[in-house]
Amino acid sequence: MSEYAAPLADMRFVLENVVDLPGLAKLPSFEHADPELVYGALEEAGRFFAQQFAPLNRIGDEQHSRRNDDGSVTTPDGFKEAYRRYVDAGWGGVPFPADYGGGGFPWLVGLVIQEMITSANMGFSLCPLLTQGAIEALMHYGDEAQKETYLPKMVTGEWTGTMNLTEPQAGSDVGALTTKAVPADDGSWRITGQKIFITYGEHDLADNIIHLVLARVPGAPPGTKGISLFIVPKVLVNDDGSPGERNRVDCVSVERKMGINASPTCVMAYEDAVGYIIGEPNLGMRYMFTMMNNARLSVGLEGLALGERAYQQAVAYAHERRQGRAPGAPAGESSPIVDMPDVRRMLLTMRSQIEALRCLAYLNAESIDLARRHPDESVRVWRQELADLLTPLTKGWGTDLGVELTSLAVQVHGGMGYIEETGVAQHYRDARIAPIYEGTNGIQAMDLIGRKLPMRGGGVMRDLQAEIGRTVEELGNGGDELALIGDRLDAGLSALRDATEWLLTDGLANPVDALAGATPYLRMCGVVVGGWLLARSAQAASRLLADGQGDADFLRQKLVTTRFYVDQVLPQVHGLVPAVTAGAGDLTAASF
Ligand SMILES: Cc1cc2nc3c(=O)[nH]c(=O)nc-3n(C[C@H](O)[C@H](O)[C@H](O)COP(=O)(O)OP(=O)(O)OC[C@H]3O[C@@H](n4cnc5c(N)ncnc54)[C@H](O)[C@@H]3O)c2cc1C
Repeated sequence: MSEYAAPLADMRFVLENVVDLPGLAKLPSFEHADPELVYGALEEAGRFFAQQFAPLNRIGDEQHSRRNDDGSVTTPDGFKEAYRRYVDAGWGGVPFPADYGGGGFPWLVGLVIQEMITSANMGFSLCPLLTQGAIEALMHYGDEAQKETYLPKMVTGEWTGTMNLTEPQAGSDVGALTTKAVPADDGSWRITGQKIFITYGEHDLADNIIHLVLARVPGAPPGTKGISLFIVPKVLVNDDGSPGERNRVDCVSVERKMGINASPTCVMAYEDAVGYIIGEPNLGMRYMFTMMNNARLSVGLEGLALGERAYQQAVAYAHERRQGRAPGAPAGESSPIVDMPDVRRMLLTMRSQIEALRCLAYLNAESIDLARRHPDESVRVWRQELADLLTPLTKGWGTDLGVELTSLAVQVHGGMGYIEETGVAQHYRDARIAPIYEGTNGIQAMDLIGRKLPMRGGGVMRDLQAEIGRTVEELGNGGDELALIGDRLDAGLSALRDATEWLLTDGLANPVDALAGATPYLRMCGVVVGGWLLARSAQAASRLLADGQGDADFLRQKLVTTRFYVDQVLPQVHGLVPAVTAGAGDLTAASF
């Protein structure tokens, strides 16, 4: 069975050389996030999740979370105890303010820990992920009393949170939801309706579950303009903070799924349940949107985390499994498959895209931190724009890659990959949900071309491309190896510029044409931005090698990885331009 070891050296390399953790640690209110202290904490986190949660991954897959006849839900063996240890160690509170019992660390640091949790056990990771989303909503829009009542216990993890958007007729089109909220005499509300697919809607890990529920108040306008956001606790909380009555919210079933079996995906029934409105009526969708960057980044990270776990397993298997004779190997001896060129191609395809994705996700998180905390307003504005632009890339490209990378890990295992016993198939099954939830990847692509590309009339995307162009120039002056990487990156950038300018002119003039090319465009953006960030890794590796600093073997591997990416992954963008610019003609002409 596979082990998981947090890739601490790779993580640290990105934190120091692609994003700037030391710079973040100098910002007001992050001064305590001294990089050496952070690296120590990450080491500890890596050990914790590898020891406590990675071994439960398979058990969770086999046992599933189960609904009992009384409506309670039992998580798989060992989850409750491991969760208790997680709460005691305080891991859930790392990126939240100290006022509520959190660690007050940058979001970036929280994200690195989240990568570890997810690699170790994705079925478990969804519990803190959803809790984090609910905390964010309350922190930004809750009133003082609500914050005081719920946040301290949610930040520590004593209570968990959920997000209730989906109904049978309201999936991607959240505006179609019909759950009702009517005012009660005491200022609270009564919520009635059914929500489906609610992650950790019911479970036995915590004493209370704080559901955030989208519903319509009487007279609300139709669509997304008429949605309000409510707090609906499973157990009502008395004024003195003690547990009160059980609220009228029940888990009526737990779905059987393709993967993430440890995560209970619940159908929830609200029957005149007591709820408390967050903020103003009818602004619920606006509140959800402001926290979506973080939630989508977290889901994008799932692609990276599962890719990493599956990669580690594939490398271990490729060393173990002997089959045939590798070119140049002595006659009469079988070779480990890791010596076969095609297996090496698969492993490097995985590794290069995992590393590109890690750079992208961390840059996305750093941008969120800088947009919130940098003292210079122009930096805050640019980083907010960058976070807005990068988020659909991290979510869409990241989760598509999660499926592709875990599929490659199955392939490295040959027939054994298809057999559940090896455990690698689980990563593939688990990864398949991520392109679907938190806005399907089709919706991410629409968001990219419909909302993000038009920001400042295309100016944000053009500014990002100009930054990539500056890296190309620097690479050109960095010696032969970097110059070659720069040439390849420049060619990819030029394809991206062509596609972008077409979308900003012809495409957006006829939105159906732009929509038809949205998904290949998102991929192009992901692949080029990934290449840019790997090129920056190569620059840093080359500089460190020249200075005689760091582990030379590790740094040389960074150069190998980037070269492979720019030679074998990046060129796909040239083939994508025609798909972006084809328009909708064939799609509308086709009959199904
Ligand atoms: C395991 C799991 C956990 C989940 N957890 C939660 C949770 O905790 N809370 C919660 O509220 N929800 C949750 N969901 C729901 C999830 O977010 C939705 O399934 C998702 O938003 C897609 O909605 P849908 O299933 O109705 O698909 P649909 O909206 O029916 O989409 C079907 C297909 O049509 C495409 N499509 C739909 N509309 C458009 C359009 N306008 N343009 C182009 N293409 C379009 C989609 O991209 C997709 O490919 C979960 C779902 C699952 C399976």
